[in-house]
Amino acid sequence: MRLVGLLGGMSWESSAEYYRLANELVRERLGGLASARLLLHSVDFAEVERLQAEDRWDEAGALLATAAAGLEAGCAELLVLCTNTMHKVAPAIEAAVSIPLLHIGDVTGRAVRAAGLGRVGLLATSYTMEQRFLRERLADHGLTVLVPDGDDRAVVHRIIYEELCLGVVTEESRQAYRQVIARLVAAGAEGVILGCTEIELLVDQSDADVPVFPTTRLHVEAAVDAALADD
Ligand code: GLU
Repeated sequence: MRLVGLLGGMSWESSAEYYRLANELVRERLGGLASARLLLHSVDFAEVERLQAEDRWDEAGALLATAAAGLEAGCAELLVLCTNTMHKVAPAIEAAVSIPLLHIGDVTGRAVRAAGLGRVGLLATSYTMEQRFLRERLADHGLTVLVPDGDDRAVVHRIIYEELCLGVVTEESRQAYRQVIARLVAAGAEGVILGCTEIELLVDQSDADVPVFPTTRLHVEAAVDAALADD
């Protein structure tokens, strides 16, 4: 089993899910007391969030590149960046290491295509919904990506940063997300990507009439596949 390097803390609420799911999946696949071989570098999210808000992405990229190099130095054989948003700086991270980065956009794109869908809604932070880095990566897999309108994007973004990243999960926010999902479906979405690693703490398949694609779970499944490949 390969040692997987987790670049997490963005937020730790979702990184904890990566840790739990990876261990559960390895136990399911190998049985007994088997558990995942993981190395975690968990950053201070307050620092990262400040760099995002101040549009200092190069500095955020440098911070994560240094952390990634540390994971490689610690013998990680594969890198998993536990956030969609910070894949904006994936090129800076990849340039700092020689181990592969398992890109969340590729994992998600393949899952949507495997489900036979081509037109999907994207729920994520405003950075991810409004900028090109993830949407283009998904488009590379042949997908057409729909995002909510401006008001809905603001609601989705606010709930991520002011609630989910702080471990706050409320029924009111679940209802708000359900309505945003329903509007995406009415606009033609055949499926919905939960494109922020905290969103699946709030909603799941039962909150949508179309297939949902939970990026944390999909990312972990792909990481475990890669860790166990050829064993
Ligand atoms: N975890 C979130 C994501 O998947 C947002 C937090 C962040 O800005 O990294 O995009």
